[in-house]
Amino acid sequence: DAIMVQELANRMAERVSDVVKSLMQMGMMVTQNQTIDQDTAELIVEEFGHKIVRVSDADVEDVIDQVVDSPEDLKPRAPIITVMGHVDHGKTSLLDAIRNARVVSGEAGGITQHIGAYQVEQNGDLLTFLDTPGHAAFTSMRSRGAQVTDIVILVVAADDAVMPQTIEAIAHAKAANVPMIVAINKIDRPAADPQKVRTDLLQHEVIVEQMSGEVQDVEVSATTGQGLDQLLEAIALQSEILELKANPNRAASGAVIEAQLDVGRGPVATVLVQNGTLKLGDIFVVGEQWGKVRALISDSGERIKTAGPSTPVEVLGLNGTPEAGDVLNVVETEAQAREIAEYRAQAAKDKRAALGAATTLEQLMANAKANEDISELPILLKADVQGSAEAIVQAMAKIGNDEVRVRVLHSGVGAITETDIGLAEASGAPVFGFNVRANTSARNTANQKGVEIRYYSVIYDLVDDVKAAASGLLSAEI
Ligand code: GDP
Repeated sequence: DAIMVQELANRMAERVSDVVKSLMQMGMMVTQNQTIDQDTAELIVEEFGHKIVRVSDADVEDVIDQVVDSPEDLKPRAPIITVMGHVDHGKTSLLDAIRNARVVSGEAGGITQHIGAYQVEQNGDLLTFLDTPGHAAFTSMRSRGAQVTDIVILVVAADDAVMPQTIEAIAHAKAANVPMIVAINKIDRPAADPQKVRTDLLQHEVIVEQMSGEVQDVEVSATTGQGLDQLLEAIALQSEILELKANPNRAASGAVIEAQLDVGRGPVATVLVQNGTLKLGDIFVVGEQWGKVRALISDSGERIKTAGPSTPVEVLGLNGTPEAGDVLNVVETEAQAREIAEYRAQAAKDKRAALGAATTLEQLMANAKANEDISELPILLKADVQGSAEAIVQAMAKIGNDEVRVRVLHSGVGAITETDIGLAEASGAPVFGFNVRANTSARNTANQKGVEIRYYSVIYDLVDDVKAAASGLLSAEI
């Protein structure tokens, strides 16, 4: 364990020249950019009259959230629901229909905020819906260690039946051990054949109630609103079975479901509180960032003072922009929050350095020549439609061999965002845009962090470039 002299001075809030002088008095001739070992650093820290705080993974665990709730402290909480299914089967329409019909604020014509999740009321119970349909979000959250979904609504269009992404969604729900409810949508369509959906699902080991199984199925129409009540009832029932509970009377923990840098408001994150209650003024650490809650804004755009379990809330007061899937923990002091955030950022940086941070294809190839260990070509992919994204991911899977392979860290639909750049930077990956561009903030961040963005409109060109890079790695290996 070593620390740079400059860094040590910063942490102690001492002048770096003073620290260098002290080191010289101890017989060590170093400059501010050189590193010193831990024992020397500790001597210096004592010399300056500071307390030594060694931060390690274990310390972080200690500071955060280790109290186990006793059963009597646990209170029922709202279920958190993710909608998944094949493209065009009506996921977005269904989420919109539910929101419009049942927003908690209930104000007619009131402007509902899109903060990434919303709550509706069902016979006095609250249900929390994640507003980003599809399994890309679900998976990327899960890959960052945040499991926030209690129930998956599998949307299948009654005039279409089971499709590739339906099957993927089933796989994801099963992998995460999350119960499903099947919403057979577009029941208003003349060509609707809900029975075909049920039979199709049998082949994928989803046996719905109507087929004497245990998975609830509800016929709905996002367009006419038919069946929405029954769907919400089915969710409430499933939720009851799950006996979801949390302790509202403790320091909050939660997961980031969306985050961005807002021009006016600074870094903003939508957090889904999972346990405890988040309050104004709370000090927290979230991934590599930390902050103090300056404002909490609900899904209906109201400023609130507290947010309990299963509540989605926009949090202001962050020192930087976290990533979707980052876990938020309230801690006691600002010093702890900063320490943990810095420790994590440093650990991530060390890891990247160890991997030989490379964010352009050329760098990756250059590094490969210098470093025999690199055998993975990480990339991040954004495309205009799911079909293209899938086709590219499949093509990527075919590139390389046992020694070198392309790893698609994340693939998604839509413009390249700051979050994508963050993920790419963290993993030393270039970003490929297929028929999509980067938004302004993403472009700026990419410039700052040296993340390469490549644009393509022909799949063949993209695949060709990646192949070239991969074979560069291959030849470097030999
Ligand atoms: P997503 O890709 O799964 O989010 O699907 P969308 O919500 O964008 O819906 C795809 C198309 O199906 C849109 O044109 C919707 O208007 C239409 N649609 C969605 N739900 C229904 C429904 O219940 N009935 C009918 N007739 N059309 C629907």
